[in-house]
Amino acid sequence: MHSTKPVILTIAGSDSSGGAGIQADIKAIAATGGYACSVVTALTAQNTKGVTAVEPVSQQMIRAQLEAVFSDLPVAAVKVGMLGDGATIRTLAEVLRRHRPAHLVVDPVMVSANGDPLLAEEAVAALREELLPLAEVITPNLPEAARLTNCALPTRLAEVESLFAGLAELECTTVLLKGGFLQRESRSPDWLLSGGEVRCFDAPRVMTINTHGTGCTLSAALACYLAQGLALELAVASAKHYIDGAIAAGATLRVGHGRGPVEH
Ligand code: PLP
Repeated sequence: MHSTKPVILTIAGSDSSGGAGIQADIKAIAATGGYACSVVTALTAQNTKGVTAVEPVSQQMIRAQLEAVFSDLPVAAVKVGMLGDGATIRTLAEVLRRHRPAHLVVDPVMVSANGDPLLAEEAVAALREELLPLAEVITPNLPEAARLTNCALPTRLAEVESLFAGLAELECTTVLLKGGFLQRESRSPDWLLSGGEVRCFDAPRVMTINTHGTGCTLSAALACYLAQGLALELAVASAKHYIDGAIAAGATLRVGHGRGPVEH
């Protein structure tokens, strides 16, 4: 019997606390109707309070995982998360150029919600030049967008537009810019920049510290909805609806002693 669920491949880091990374992606993909498979790029030792160690997976093993999945499973969409370093970005770009998945969502992960670095400084140029041009959509948060465009980090919603011109110059067709970083604002809008147009997806902010893994969850859900054939704007609206519900459902839960996860 064939599986009727689309196969979504997440290429990301492992989060031992289960809130972000591969673990968040698998939960989000399962909850939004996909079959999840994974390529682990790095191991992180972390909990809700922060990251205590990071160990990259060897290039040989990353390549072996990618070839094992692509040579056998009918991958309908790929979501890319934490890559860690430039060598991993170059390996992945080479493999993706050969296998060309129908949908590729790249979350340009750079730091954790607790502020721990998840991408080497030297790797930002490789990300911009090698991987972003292959993506259908990239999903930076405000600090990542500022870093990718070498612009100042907005501190209020009214300043976010200052990033739009720089983002439009990136070599990727579509950007979903996430506004959740501005924690003192009462709204949490995201902006879809595509073909010279900007569309805002607004939502009220849920006041909670449980936001660990929100970016991972949004991008994984987006990849899953694109794989199900939803047009871009509907897929974005659906993914935003999913993450808003997951944040609301987890808002008052206590998992660990720090920044807790969302509830899938
Ligand atoms: N990937 C891994 C492995 C992580 O540990 C984290 C954050 O801790 C992220 C990605 C990014 O998480 P978020 O979805 O909170 O941006």
